Amino acid sequence: MAMIKRPFVIGNWKMNLTLVRGIEFAKLLKDSLHGKDGIMCGVCPPFIFLKEICKILEDSNVCVAAQNIHSEKYGAYTGEVSALMIKEVGCTHVLIGHSERRHIFHEDDSFINAKIKTALSVNLKPIFCVGEMLDEREAGRTKDVIRNQLVRGLRDVRADQLKEIVIAYEPVWAIGTGKTALPEQADEVHSFIRNTITNEYDKNLAKSIYILYGGSVKPENAKELTDQSEIDGLLVGGASILFESFLKIIEVVSKG
Ligand code: PEP
Repeated sequence: MAMIKRPFVIGNWKMNLTLVRGIEFAKLLKDSLHGKDGIMCGVCPPFIFLKEICKILEDSNVCVAAQNIHSEKYGAYTGEVSALMIKEVGCTHVLIGHSERRHIFHEDDSFINAKIKTALSVNLKPIFCVGEMLDEREAGRTKDVIRNQLVRGLRDVRADQLKEIVIAYEPVWAIGTGKTALPEQADEVHSFIRNTITNEYDKNLAKSIYILYGGSVKPENAKELTDQSEIDGLLVGGASILFESFLKIIEVVSKG
């Protein structure tokens, strides 16, 4: 990991936990991280829990992200939730382009791009997820896929806006499968992402931007991943649902 950056570890609860367990989790996390400044940490609860969890974590060093937003700020979109709404309840971040949104809910790059721009317009920080499928990796197309997702997802995003974005590299074949990318494999793609940002924007911005790895991260592999020079932190799914395993991950990657 780049020396000057504190690692950023964020847990995606997906459609798991109950409100009672989420509240208990948030309180434990707040207490455990009190006064610890060697790490940045966050959680992504389901929409319906956000208000309660944000209340618990305000004035703490744990941020709260929504798992999704719609691209429009308001209107006739039954069942959807807007960037303004999650901002109002206290979220600072939002996941955009998670592979489950791309592949189960068929979200395409232009929809993802519209969501990113909407999030930025209300001062929410997007955690922009990219990643290749197994067949794409096996066909040697990983870099093409990642470049396309980046360029299309960031269309018309200015450099001063990109500073607010966190990128998460999540190979789809490693999400929820127990198959983690080898640290060197992940680092190679992170380096490619930084080069793409250098080409599209500039080198300093590419250096400063946070690029997280996600895909079957657990306490046993967290450190070797964040020890890689280009991996600035972790987006954790399954292992973020149990407080003990999430805390263990935070502890092993924390810088003091
Ligand atoms: C994720 O959902 O972003 C994720 C990385 O999941 P898991 O850690 O379970 O692979």
